[in-house]
Amino acid sequence: MKRVHIAATLLDAQLAADTLAGAGIAAHILNIHAVGALGDLPFLHAQPELWVENDAHAERARVILAETRDVPLSCEKPCPHCGEVNPGHFLSCWHCDGGLSDC
Ligand SMILES: [Zn+2]
Repeated sequence: MKRVHIAATLLDAQLAADTLAGAGIAAHILNIHAVGALGDLPFLHAQPELWVENDAHAERARVILAETRDVPLSCEKPCPHCGEVNPGHFLSCWHCDGGLSDC
């Protein structure tokens, strides 16, 4: 396993894990329970971390996460397959699962 992301919050870690799962990359969140010990543990030891199962997927995972973080939240993508509007950070349509292009 290799670490590919240190998240600010558990929500951020879960969104990143879901993004990777959508791309077919299995990942696990570590330090899920350590977040509650912030203040007792050093800050860097309590942040949620995202680790990919297969080391060979680490670089692709980092690229995918970097691309999704750079998309402004105000961006919206219409689905070319069904016409549904999707948030800019979605890689596939929430309605029909069709692939989306960049904003
Ligand atoms: Zn669609």
